[in-house]
Amino acid sequence: MAYRVKSIFGPTLQGEGLHAGAPCLFLRLAGCNAWDGRPETRSASACPYCDTDFIGGEALDLDTVIARLRALLPATPDTRFGVVLSGGEPLLQADSQLLQGLGERFSWIDIETNGTRVCPPRPANVFISCSPKAISGQPIVVEPDWWKILVPDQVSFLTRALASGKPVFVQPTCPDQGPSGPRYEQNVRRCIELCYRHGCRMSVQLHKYIGVE
Ligand code: SF4
Repeated sequence: MAYRVKSIFGPTLQGEGLHAGAPCLFLRLAGCNAWDGRPETRSASACPYCDTDFIGGEALDLDTVIARLRALLPATPDTRFGVVLSGGEPLLQADSQLLQGLGERFSWIDIETNGTRVCPPRPANVFISCSPKAISGQPIVVEPDWWKILVPDQVSFLTRALASGKPVFVQPTCPDQGPSGPRYEQNVRRCIELCYRHGCRMSVQLHKYIGVE
């Protein structure tokens, strides 16, 4: 089985969700079901704010993926290094072998999914972080370990996320680039209100504040 891999990089710090601030490597798989990745179609897609390049990539088998990840670890790596499995939409490709292989070799794995694909069986240290997207004809089917709601764009999913009893992160989108600008500040204030009112947790994309990839 070969996976189409867009990029493998690190070490860096997880910027979002329950493992925010923790050291990690990134495995970014190619392809997404929410947008075809072309700039001219982005504004009409389910994710007009998407800033990720997930087109192309190279076909790699599991052993090569693991070897490339391990080659990025510092010389004396702490055993608490995790892997962020991202995309695109990683659950278009991720199977049990990939999740098992990553889970056996790293402390934790965060799957960053839009929630429209069922996750295959996974080890206990492989977590699902769902940032739900409203994609026509593709309902949210995943049962995540926590939710990440983009504010204001995906706030319609908030009621469902809160009802699940799982941690709910609210994350302000950055319409003016960077984590700055009047619209970003407005979104931050709305997130703070949601934290106060519903017990949500603030997610501010830590990596953008400290200048890591
Ligand atoms: S689901 Fe994620 S990667 Fe895919 S288009 Fe939306 S924001 Fe981008």
